[in-house]
Amino acid sequence: SVILAIESSCDETSVAICNNGKITANVIANQTIHENYGGVIPELASRVHQQNIVPTIQQALINAKVNKKDVNAVAFTQGPGLLGALLVGVSFAKSFALALNLPLIAVNHMQAHILAHFIDEPKPAFPFLCLTVSGGHTQIVLVKSYFDMEIVGETLDDAAGEAFDKTAKLLNLPYPGGPLIDKHAQSGNPVAFKFPVPQIQDLNYSFSGFKTAILYFIRDKQKENPLFIEQNLADICASVQHSIVSILMNKLKRAAKQYNCKEIAIAGGVSANSGLRNTLIEARDSMGWNVYIPAFEYCTDNAAMIAIAGYHKFLAGDFVGQDISPMARMNF
Ligand code: ATP
Ligand code: MG
Ligand code: FE
Repeated sequence: SVILAIESSCDETSVAICNNGKITANVIANQTIHENYGGVIPELASRVHQQNIVPTIQQALINAKVNKKDVNAVAFTQGPGLLGALLVGVSFAKSFALALNLPLIAVNHMQAHILAHFIDEPKPAFPFLCLTVSGGHTQIVLVKSYFDMEIVGETLDDAAGEAFDKTAKLLNLPYPGGPLIDKHAQSGNPVAFKFPVPQIQDLNYSFSGFKTAILYFIRDKQKENPLFIEQNLADICASVQHSIVSILMNKLKRAAKQYNCKEIAIAGGVSANSGLRNTLIEARDSMGWNVYIPAFEYCTDNAAMIAIAGYHKFLAGDFVGQDISPMARMNF
């Protein structure tokens, strides 16, 4: 089977091809326009998707060395995400499928982040726990099979990626700041500064109080010394990253114990974070877990994860009709 997959939920226009379960193309057109605004501007994202979608499709077909007449099904991100951005991908997928008389496959973006683990070896065994940490979500998911997933804990307010990005903004770093915090953290002291750990029940998270604590911390320090940020950038980044990773890991360890599960995965943009990746590897050794860490290219948004999810829906015969619409919010 040849599945063509489209991702357009936020600010990446991406198209991938999955040929008999193998990813043979994964083209990602990043949108740089948002850097000037310190965050994604939805209306601009939609317009850039509109410009990028056709050339991205063409490049993916070239990379995979397939003709559009060889495609067997079209998979697309139905949600969650920015409605206008999703609409570009969904409309294109519907037109492409209509023109070539192909079946349509609707994919949940958050399930796809998790299913990215089924692109390459080693693949996790069911049931496994996945900490999905991205720009808009922070969830601990019990994955029972490809499409039977249960959220057992999640953030009550901000996502972990937002905590990274908003801290970066306070430090005058450009959007998206997560990767830059990671970079500066490499040369800093992770215990130079201490931040309060949110006291939240069960397996849930909260990052809004944490974010405010960092805002006040930086504001107060800058009052004493206007060069505080410049002089301590690496230590601030390392300490913030260390705190976020500790918060994430505490609940993940609790979930592993509660569900008596040693198959542990991470997914989403923040799973590219070196602090989180290293801490998970330490936990593999100290907790006896089998850990699954995605390749960097499959952490942040990409269509390969939509394609592999689409492939498994294709095998299950799970198709949708031309009346399908995008959903800004979407449950599993
Ligand atoms: P969602 O998947 O929740 O809809 P999204 O698709 O916008 O949100 P992703 O593309 O999965 O999110 O992830 C983007 C987030 O990952 C951003 O917040 C970014 O700062 C963060 N991120 C990427 N690389 C790193 C890194 N190395 N360290 C920390 N954060 C990172
Ligand atoms: Mg993005
Ligand atoms: Fe995402």
